Amino acid sequence: MPRQTPQPSTPAPTTALRQRLAELRGPAVPPHPLDARALAALAANPGCERRALLDGAGVDKAALAAALGSPSAFGQSQFAFVRGNAFEAKVKADGGTELLRLWCERTGCEPPAADDLSLPELSAAGPEGRAARTALALREATAAGGWSLLNHPMLALEVAGSPAYLEPDAVVVQPDGRWTVVEIKSFPMIDDSADAAKVGAAARQAAVYVLALQRVAERLPGAEVNHSVLLVCPKDFSNLPTASLVDVRKQLSVTRRQLARLTRVEDIAAALPDGTTFDLERPADELTAAVESVDAAYAPDCLAACELAFHCRERARAAGAVQALGRGVRGELGGLTTIGAVLAAAESDADAPTGSPAGRPAGETDPTVAALRRAAALRAEALEAAACR
Ligand code: SF4
Repeated sequence: MPRQTPQPSTPAPTTALRQRLAELRGPAVPPHPLDARALAALAANPGCERRALLDGAGVDKAALAAALGSPSAFGQSQFAFVRGNAFEAKVKADGGTELLRLWCERTGCEPPAADDLSLPELSAAGPEGRAARTALALREATAAGGWSLLNHPMLALEVAGSPAYLEPDAVVVQPDGRWTVVEIKSFPMIDDSADAAKVGAAARQAAVYVLALQRVAERLPGAEVNHSVLLVCPKDFSNLPTASLVDVRKQLSVTRRQLARLTRVEDIAAALPDGTTFDLERPADELTAAVESVDAAYAPDCLAACELAFHCRERARAAGAVQALGRGVRGELGGLTTIGAVLAAAESDADAPTGSPAGRPAGETDPTVAALRRAAALRAEALEAAACR
């Protein structure tokens, strides 16, 4: 594996920007902390300025959604939470030997004897203390050159000048100085493969941990962070664990780009009308206007990743935006951006020129409009045939 090169860290915001972001969330409101799920979700929708600004300003999006009258149903159910914890405890039982067995099974290395696996104590006061304790444990484990398993380490990642504290399920330190993130999920892996959307979400979340771990490794000669993470899930429909290595390099570069983009919240904030604020003390209509003043990029995937999803979905539907139908459909429709325009194109006269709203010269065939007309004609034929039966 090639040695990693130090990555540029996100530049800290200027005092003026800090002040502006504080005004946006409300002067007396402390910034809402970002966790790995939030950072991963940010990377899942790189085109959304609304989310970038709200996260950059540390606005509590769940509280904002409730104040807008569209509370999120976002988060894990109590049942899933309890089941997830029980599965994680099972995976980490026997001092981590089962977890190490899974790791060695996937990588083809010899599992260490139970006595050769060190489990450093990571408890300390507060997230800052725990992050410092984790960094020390990683340093000591790497210098010792043996096997270590860090259970729920705490990592700090600077995001727009403020630290975000992140807690992966575990990190394995190998004798050769390589560190690997372990993600334990409760969705099933059937015949060695799992739901692609869930694996994608887990990979984005793990990439945030890898990024934070790289920041620690940059200061430690001989340390190296694995670009693949160990994803542990229940095997088939049992509660026996199985594992797979997931390469997160792609998610890592998207996350890095997104975090760098957060520093450009200055530009987004500068374009807002004077006096815009997301202070939850303000009346709902003022908050709605403030939220609407920032461009959003709604897609149905937002429902699983962002607290504002119900609000943005309602607005996208009200505007007849084709984004509400999904990114795939949006991509197929080219320059037709509203459902009204799509229906009008489908119902338009086949003999009329098919100049597209994207600026195609009149008379030239627009394949999207032609395909919509053809689909509308086929539908009409099918309905007519059904009526004659
Ligand atoms: S729900 Fe709204 S704010 Fe959140 S990512 Fe989607 S479009 Fe952006």
